[in-house]
Amino acid sequence: MKHQIKIIIFIVLLTLTFLFFSIQSENNFQACFLDVGQGDAELFRTQLGQNILIDGGADNSLLPMLGQCLPWWDRKIDYIFISHYHDDHYAGLVDLLNKYQVKNIITTPEKPKTALYSAWLLSLQQHGLKEQIAETGQKYDFGQGITLEIIKANDVDSKNINDDSLVLKISDGRIDYLLVGDLPSEQEQILLQSGFNIDSEILKVGHHGSKYSSSPEFLAVVKPELCVIEVGTDNKFGHPHQEALDRLDKMDCQIKETKDLGTIRVFSDGNKWWVE
Ligand SMILES: [Zn+2]
Repeated sequence: MKHQIKIIIFIVLLTLTFLFFSIQSENNFQACFLDVGQGDAELFRTQLGQNILIDGGADNSLLPMLGQCLPWWDRKIDYIFISHYHDDHYAGLVDLLNKYQVKNIITTPEKPKTALYSAWLLSLQQHGLKEQIAETGQKYDFGQGITLEIIKANDVDSKNINDDSLVLKISDGRIDYLLVGDLPSEQEQILLQSGFNIDSEILKVGHHGSKYSSSPEFLAVVKPELCVIEVGTDNKFGHPHQEALDRLDKMDCQIKETKDLGTIRVFSDGNKWWVE
């Protein structure tokens, strides 16, 4: 009998601890840099329970990773932003549409002639969804001090799709998260001249840590404190490049890579950020 009581007390304590931590997490804004291998996917969850997904990785590793950052009962995504139409940024989204209720999809006007893009369009149609084309300067207010601003949309008609990467700044009060897709250095220069304030505490490092992104001039203006690199182990591109890592290091930026740490969870409360 004594033994049974001990077990019951243990289960009750475990449940209370679990509830305490889940409620505590919801008091803060959450950013999950999802471990989707060689690709990008970031989930932001507001205190009011709105889910904003930026990109969707290269394969179906997206869904289990999303599950780690969302409550088990939540199966809706309020906004998907697709930075650009390269497979490693949206292939995982095709399956997502079958499992989650998606409300809005914002992206670039590119229409790549690939089988994946055709499958994506078909899936959109089947779910009654339409892409909305992003415009520079568009701003979204999620309440509780959370905003998202498109600070660079597709203004160039370039041969390199990376050039057209959407750049988004998500703000939680004084804490800013800058997401630059696979933006190369030449486009970083254009961003610097745009007049937008890109000073940000947290940077999703451009192009998986490629040496063709993260120029010193750009980093000097962003002044990131945390640099997250979304990258797969032993990838064929050699990402992240040592030169890029050295440049980030010079900025005294804390570098964290998904290939070493798995999904990286960052929280903020409007004044400070921390990694869990
Ligand atoms: Zn990429």
